Amino acid sequence: MKVFNLRCGSGHSFEGWFGSEADYDGQLERGLLECPLCASPQVVRVPSAPRLNLSTSAETSVTDGMPNHPQDSDGHVLAALRQLVQQSQDVGSRFADQARRMHNGELPQRAIRGEATAKQLEELLEDGVPVLPLPNIPGLKEPLQ
Ligand SMILES: [Zn+2]
Repeated sequence: MKVFNLRCGSGHSFEGWFGSEADYDGQLERGLLECPLCASPQVVRVPSAPRLNLSTSAETSVTDGMPNHPQDSDGHVLAALRQLVQQSQDVGSRFADQARRMHNGELPQRAIRGEATAKQLEELLEDGVPVLPLPNIPGLKEPLQ
């Protein structure tokens, strides 16, 4: 049994339970997955390593360059997140503005990360801007030993 963290196009987060990764892929392909809150069929999987920390302020990152199929094991997810952090530019509190302008084509596409409030995140997701809330993992920003 696998538990995946899922998110719909409206930004609702929920868990999906599947017999296997193939089971998840199959349900997704056949359009059987939908958001339990708004019934949106636009469901995407988010990395599930530790619980996402989405209080008032969350660190976020544009998903450009993220692998389309996050790995199964937590170690791989953590490694992928760490790589993402290292390859992205920290724009701090300008994150929401920068992400939106990139989405609108006003800025060249690049991987960025920074701070955004839950409300900003919600607005970005509503506008179809690909953002990924990152968990606050100790050591995520430090290079591998
Ligand atoms: Zn929803």
